[in-house]
Amino acid sequence: MHIELTEMLRCPEPHREEMLVLSTGEVKDRMVRSGIIGCPVCHKEYPISRGIVNFRRSRERVSKESSGPRPAYAPPSPLPSAEATSLQALLELSGPGGYVVLVGAAVRQAQRLGALMAGIHFVGINAPSEMDEQPTLSLLYANEKVPLRTAVARGVVVGADLATSPWLVEAHRVLLRGRRFVVENEEPELPIGLLKLVAEHGLWVGEKR
Ligand SMILES: [Zn+2]
Repeated sequence: MHIELTEMLRCPEPHREEMLVLSTGEVKDRMVRSGIIGCPVCHKEYPISRGIVNFRRSRERVSKESSGPRPAYAPPSPLPSAEATSLQALLELSGPGGYVVLVGAAVRQAQRLGALMAGIHFVGINAPSEMDEQPTLSLLYANEKVPLRTAVARGVVVGADLATSPWLVEAHRVLLRGRRFVVENEEPELPIGLLKLVAEHGLWVGEKR
């Protein structure tokens, strides 16, 4: 995780948003490879291991970790993914800076999107298990709650594997007003209140009003 992302994180527990506290272990080129993120409100601690912050509840964390070499996320099905160029166009991002959140299989787009959108840092939530962090990509594991503060993302792309109502509510929450979110599914399971702009070529596009 990029060290500057710390101030954008929030505890997934249902309490007020408060800045989390980072205790670093190994840091390399401003990427935190190991450490602990602590919540000053509920005092929960979330480990950073191999650069990935794990916000999953500890019971599930233990069972996942014991089954493999890393806290694995169930591999998403190999669904066709969108063209990075169409995603970039639909997100309507101009200029560098800020964060774009990618959820599930959409994290696979990070490298191609990064080549098209220099100067943007990507935050991958529940990335496919074969993925590692990169200088422009921080990875987080979470349970149906994006561990980011409200209205911090310049854009969100939700992969087909997680195009379900709880994740779409979260995608909408973390997005800045007036910005776009794209779902890699033309007919996602939509929660009430999300505004559709367009649905075509396997992508659903909404905007936060
Ligand atoms: Zn907390």
